[in-house]
Amino acid sequence: MAQGGVEKIGLPDSFLQVKLPNGEKVKIEKPMPEHTVGIQLILDSLVDPKIGCLKDLKEINAVGHRVVHGGEKFNQSVVITPEVKKQIIECSELAPLHNPANLKGIEAIEKTLSRVPQVAVFDSALQQTMPDYAYMYALPYELYQKYAIRRYGFHGTSHRYVSARVCEFLGVDPSKQKIVTAHIGNGGSCAAVLNGKSVDTSMGLTPVEGLVMGTRAGDLDLGAATFIMDKEGLSTAEFNNLVNKKSGLLGVSGVSNDARDIDAAIKSGNKRAELVRNMFIYRVKKYIGAYAAAMNGVDIIVFTGGIGENDPFIRGEVVKGLSFLGAKLDEQANNVRGEERVISTKDSKVTVCVIPTDEELMIASDTQALV
Ligand code: ADP
Repeated sequence: MAQGGVEKIGLPDSFLQVKLPNGEKVKIEKPMPEHTVGIQLILDSLVDPKIGCLKDLKEINAVGHRVVHGGEKFNQSVVITPEVKKQIIECSELAPLHNPANLKGIEAIEKTLSRVPQVAVFDSALQQTMPDYAYMYALPYELYQKYAIRRYGFHGTSHRYVSARVCEFLGVDPSKQKIVTAHIGNGGSCAAVLNGKSVDTSMGLTPVEGLVMGTRAGDLDLGAATFIMDKEGLSTAEFNNLVNKKSGLLGVSGVSNDARDIDAAIKSGNKRAELVRNMFIYRVKKYIGAYAAAMNGVDIIVFTGGIGENDPFIRGEVVKGLSFLGAKLDEQANNVRGEERVISTKDSKVTVCVIPTDEELMIASDTQALV
C-alpha cells in the first residue's frame, strides 16, 4: 500500500522518501537529528491526506522492526515484550550504532500506537546455521563460555531474502547452489550461502568487522587497536566510536560516508576519495574470493544494498577482478540501478546478479506469522 524510507539521519539533508501505489515518489526533506523524529515523520506521512494510505493510525494491526543484534538469545523473530526489550538493551553494547536506535523506534511506536503488537526480526538470527569453526574466534575458549564471544553476522534478513529470491529469479534449486551475497550499503557484509544455509559471513561479534563501510573500518589488525588507543589516549568507548562512526569511507576520504558524495569528490580530483573507493572494491572482491574457497566453489554472486543495487562502477570493478573464478561481466547489462538482473555474460561460469533487497517484505511476513 505504501513504501518508503528515511535516509541520512543525523546529516543536515535528511529526508523521507515515500513511494505511492501509482509508482510516484514523494520526497519530504526535513532535518532529522535522530531516529524518533524519523519514526514520527513516517507515521505522519501514512495518514497524510495527500500521500497517506491510511485514514487513521488505528488501522495498523501490528508493527515489525528490524533489530540488529539478538546475541545467542534469539535465533528467530519474536513478539516484543518488556523482557525482549530488556534483552535488546543487553545486546546494545555489541551493536552500538543500531540496537539503541531500534529500541527508540519500538518505544516511539509504543507511545503513538499503544496497544499494537510489535515484532522484532533479528538481523543476527539467520546466521545461526554457521558451523562452529566459522563462527569461533581463536581466543581463549573461556571467553566464548563466559560472554558468548563469537561471530554472529548481520544483514541476515537481507541475505536470506536475496539468496532465496535469486534462485526463484533464475529458476534454480536453492538446495544445490553455492551463493555469495554481497549486501553493500552504508553498512555492508558478504555471506556464503551453501545449499540454502548461511555458512559464513563477514560481520562478526559486532557489525564493525569485515568490509569497508560508510563509517565503519571493517577488518583491522588487533595490534593496531591497542597501538592507537595507547598513542591517542583513547578509552574503549572512544575507540569504539572511532572504528564505528569515524572510519570507513568517511574516515579515509574526510569527505562523507555516502558513496554518492565519494563519487562526486573523485570526479573533482580528490585522491583520498579515490583511495577509499579502491579499498572498498578490493575488500569486497577479497571476501567473495574467500567465500568461494569456503564453499569450494561459487555458482551465483548477488549484489544488493544501496551501493550493490545502484553503483555499476563498483560492481563492475569487483566482477572484473574475479575472472579467475570464471566470472565475466556483461558491461551493458551491468548498467542498471535497482532492478533484478543478470549482469554476467551467457558464457560466464558464475552467474552474477543484482537483486534489490526486500527486508521489509521479510519483516512483514514474519510479523504477520507471529501475531
Ligand atoms: P543502509 O546500510 O544504511 O541500509 P543503504 O543500503 O541505503 O544503507 O545504502 C546507502 C548507500 O548506498 C550510500 O552510500 C549511498 O550513497 C548508496 N547509494 C544509494 N543510491 C545510490 C545511487 N543511485 N548510486 C550510487 N550509490 C547509491
